Amino acid sequence: MNFDSYTDRGVQAAAELANQLTESWAQGAFRALPSGGGPRRKLAAAVETSIWGRSGDLSAGDAEGLIRLATQLRLIFQTLASGELDSTAQLVNALLQKHHAAPQLATHDGEPWHLHFHSQEKEAGRAEARGATCATALATVIGSGGAWRLGTCHANRCDLVFVDTSKNGRRRFCSPRCLSRDKVARFRARHQAGTLDEE
Ligand SMILES: [Zn+2]
Ligand SMILES: [Zn+2]
Repeated sequence: MNFDSYTDRGVQAAAELANQLTESWAQGAFRALPSGGGPRRKLAAAVETSIWGRSGDLSAGDAEGLIRLATQLRLIFQTLASGELDSTAQLVNALLQKHHAAPQLATHDGEPWHLHFHSQEKEAGRAEARGATCATALATVIGSGGAWRLGTCHANRCDLVFVDTSKNGRRRFCSPRCLSRDKVARFRARHQAGTLDEE
C-alpha cells in the first residue's frame, strides 16, 4: 500500500477487528459472537494473534474492550460506506480522543526507537492501545485523501469490511468468494426475470 508501514498495519488491524469481533454476515453466513466470558476471551486472543502475531496475556477486560472497539471500528467503515464523510471524520476524532491517541517514540525491551500511538502504551491496557493505533491509522488515511480505500462488501449477506490496496481503487467485494456469489446471484436474478417475461 502507499502508506507507511505503521498506518498500513493500523488500518488492516481496524478492518480485521471489525470483521472478526462483531456480529455480522460473513460471505453468506451469519456469525454470532460467543456469549460466555471464556469463549469471548479466547476469540479475542485468537484475533490478536492473527493481527499482531501474538496475544500475550489477554484479560477478560481487555477482551471486552477489544470487542467494544471492534463495534466502533465497524461503525466507521459503515458510515463511510454510506457516503457520510463528515460523520465518519467525527467518529474517528471521537475514537482518537477516547483512546488518548498521542504518538510517542519509545524504546524498550532492546527494541530500536519506534512509534507508539498511545502516550502510555504499555500501561494503558490492550484495547486502549489498539484503539489509539487504529484511530490514528484511520485518521491518517482519511486525512490524506484515502477514504475510498476503506470499503465494505457489496455482496448480499456480507458485512465484511476491507482495505482496498488495488491501484484503481474499484474493489467492491471482501473476497473472490463474494465476487462469485454476487455473479451467481445476478445471473439467477436475470434468469428469473427472463422466465417471467416469457410467461
Ligand atoms: Zn513498543
Ligand atoms: Zn463479502
